[in-house]
Amino acid sequence: MDELHYQYNLLRAKNQTLESTERMYRSICNTSTNAFLYYSFTDNKLFTMGAWESYFDIRIDSIKNLASLTEFVQDKYQLALREILYLEQTKMERASKEVCLLNGKKWVECEVNISYDEKQRPIEKIIRFKDITKFKKQNDELSYLAYYDILTGLYNRNYFVRILADWLRKAETDKSVVSVVFIDIDDFRKINDGLGLIVGDELVQVFGQFLGTFSQENVIVSHFNSDIYCMAIYDPCGNRTVDAIYHEIQSRLQKPFLLSTRHELDITVSVGVAEYPEAAKSALELINCAEIVMFKSKAGGKNGLTYFDTPILNDFLKNIEIENKLKEALFANQFELNFQPQYDSSSGRLRGVEALIRWKDHMGKSVSPSDFIPIAEKNGTIVPIGNWVIDEAIRILAEVKRKYRIDFVMSINISAIQYKRDEFVGDLIAILRKYDVNPNEIELEITETVLIDDFKLVKDKMHTLREYGVKVSLDDFGTGFSSLSYLKGLPIDTLKIDKTFVDTVIVDESTRIIMESIIHMAKRLGYDTVAEGVETKEQYDYLKSIGCDTIQGFYLSKPMSVEAFEQLLSEMIH
Ligand code: C2E
Ligand code: MG
Ligand code: MG
Repeated sequence: MDELHYQYNLLRAKNQTLESTERMYRSICNTSTNAFLYYSFTDNKLFTMGAWESYFDIRIDSIKNLASLTEFVQDKYQLALREILYLEQTKMERASKEVCLLNGKKWVECEVNISYDEKQRPIEKIIRFKDITKFKKQNDELSYLAYYDILTGLYNRNYFVRILADWLRKAETDKSVVSVVFIDIDDFRKINDGLGLIVGDELVQVFGQFLGTFSQENVIVSHFNSDIYCMAIYDPCGNRTVDAIYHEIQSRLQKPFLLSTRHELDITVSVGVAEYPEAAKSALELINCAEIVMFKSKAGGKNGLTYFDTPILNDFLKNIEIENKLKEALFANQFELNFQPQYDSSSGRLRGVEALIRWKDHMGKSVSPSDFIPIAEKNGTIVPIGNWVIDEAIRILAEVKRKYRIDFVMSINISAIQYKRDEFVGDLIAILRKYDVNPNEIELEITETVLIDDFKLVKDKMHTLREYGVKVSLDDFGTGFSSLSYLKGLPIDTLKIDKTFVDTVIVDESTRIIMESIIHMAKRLGYDTVAEGVETKEQYDYLKSIGCDTIQGFYLSKPMSVEAFEQLLSEMIH
């Protein structure tokens, strides 16, 4: 009896411990925001715990089979959920899936753990449902940032490159063409600087949204940065070819963009196009090629479209090579000056020489100034190079004058960038003093491009220079905007008529009419006239007959080394 009593008390005590442990687990589960489902394979029993109702609007006793849970998730997740709810069929112990509930608002992670006996028969299965909506949202925001550009809502550069790379792989098997279209708003900096960043940003946004309307299954549009956009077209055809899209862009740009700031902006764009497989094989290379030709459109006067082709690439590569070599050229003393005489047409006397820079790179290869000066202007090396030219030309001038005592003018070409620097006049005067050269023995050749940006500033500087006694000549006259009216009141001494006029003056009647009126007008304005690039006797005689003061060109003399020039001077005095 005692034994029985003892056993009874022992069982009761054990039961109490069990009950309190179960209570503990249950309350832990119930305070959790997760929902749990326990299934015993041995006695086919199903228990639920935790925040069950916040996931599924279903009573546990109505779950006849687990599969009915899949009715609570969106169609596309049903299969995945079913697979892990019956994970024992795969003999796996653990797996999890993320599914979205029917209302689309809640994301749930469903994790399943199964234990097996030694014969691999399932014993029990615990399924946990966890609300991951918040995490998912943050993730979505992150991936939005990873794929899209916030300002325009278009794809960002990285994602564009990824899709393009996929497309190129596909195009290789399909033998398809992929066009990459690089678009840049013209003079965007002026809008940003003149109207402010907010207006600039809004323009980028509205134009980007307009470009976004082209996106389709085979067209992707992205905003790279600032005012740069890029499109890719897979297998272009119909109204989704580069030309058709460009045409649509052009017609949209006929009307201004209306901004919330009430600005009405008219814009133009420069476009470059490169196509797979012709231009390049990889996404980055293709984009690069399209960008290169976009710059070609810019250089060609903006508001245009250029297709990539091999000569353009070669040109570009050549420019890069020059740019790299240019940096060391000055230190390596690779420059020298040549001098081309200019003669008075009526007396035949030497009027002056034009200093022309010559560059032999480290391999001894000559690079034409027409090729490297524009590059030096772009990368800023024109400033030290230009200073060297001025110093060297004036140094040589001082030296040969001392030696030969012949009067002539040294013409020095000045780039617009050099001319516009604040230090320009001061530096020039300092060099003239250093070599003790009279300012009226030099003439600065400036092209019309210098007048484009800030006419008044440029004019004032010309006045200052002429007050010092330095002569100013307008070079390449006739190649720029050539409006005769702006010449009025321009403080220059000399007008240098461009070779392109001289070239056709004998054969073309209308060139002769223009030439005569230029010379006539220059005379009335009190300018000296120089014709450059005179190659034949006919040209020389004609120019002389219409009163052109000075002649320069291969007919009289090619540019020569300083030694040859000295030889010429020494012959003149003997
Ligand atoms: P530019 O100032 O108009 O110089 C005249 C160019 O025409 C020179 O070319 C000269 O060699 C060439 N030339 C002269 N007569 C004839 C001719 O009868 N026939 C032909 N076919 N050509 C003739 P170059 O020396 O190659 O210079 C080209 C341009 O490079 C120059 O045009 C000038 O704009 C620029 N440049 C040359 N030296 C300098 C420099 O020291 N500084 C700057 N900023 N630019 C320079
Ligand atoms: Mg010149
Ligand atoms: Mg010239």
